[in-house]
Amino acid sequence: MITHPKHPFQSEADQIQALIDRCNGDSDTFIEELHQTKITHISFSQVYSFETCPRQYYLRHILGREITPVPEYFVKGKALHRTIANAYRAFGEGQDFSEDIIHYDGISRFSQAGKHLRNGYLTLRQNMLPSDEVLGIEKPFVFLMEDNIPPVVGVIDLILRRGDILILIDHKTGRDFYHPDILQMAVYLNYLRSAGLQGDCEFYYDSYRWVENLARIRKPAFERRQMVINEREIEGQVKRLVAGYQGIHRLKQGQLPERNGECFRCVYRNCC
Ligand code: SF4
Repeated sequence: MITHPKHPFQSEADQIQALIDRCNGDSDTFIEELHQTKITHISFSQVYSFETCPRQYYLRHILGREITPVPEYFVKGKALHRTIANAYRAFGEGQDFSEDIIHYDGISRFSQAGKHLRNGYLTLRQNMLPSDEVLGIEKPFVFLMEDNIPPVVGVIDLILRRGDILILIDHKTGRDFYHPDILQMAVYLNYLRSAGLQGDCEFYYDSYRWVENLARIRKPAFERRQMVINEREIEGQVKRLVAGYQGIHRLKQGQLPERNGECFRCVYRNCC
């Protein structure tokens, strides 16, 4: 009988899976509790944040420095994510829905941010991706990859099924459309393969642009971009994930790095 050596981070992966089960798949609770437990893990967003600015990673994830008040774009983005989740939940249950599903999360509906949210909802209504089944909404996951990195963790915004094809969608919000990063897709594909995926899978970025008046826009409020990745690119992205983890590991042993980033639009610029 062939026995496979145990992955060095098997115990951490088991603990994180137990946490996902305990949270009943509630991604917000899971992320919050994972943060508190400090179980070693790596994610696409950690690597992205580290690559964007190691100093910001250090301030935010190592020193635990929070920006107060929480920036409006963050609250608004989360509120639209919740609204989109509500819409696909209703859609999955065969129910129609109205503006009641908009999550304002404390934002006044008469403020500029409130108008952005409502327009995000109206844009969503026109652009929901048809499918046969909603398989997952804000689905947290954990899995093991290379021996030299800890469990990889993430949350998939939306999983749909159309015929035999699995469709993954990530929602992005902002003043402008998101520049895709194939690391996220490589992580999702590796997770699905580790869970036994054998068929076809499509991956889309749905980007919502904040708009105050939909009747007066010069460029679209919404962009859907399908991403395609080949096996060679997946291998390259796995190396990037490993390098990101190693960089973060070194950062934890060292001191606050020098300022070096796109500081003019950084929310940390006043406390950096
Ligand atoms: S202000 Fe500049 S150096 Fe500081 S965290 Fe932001 S991007 Fe990084």
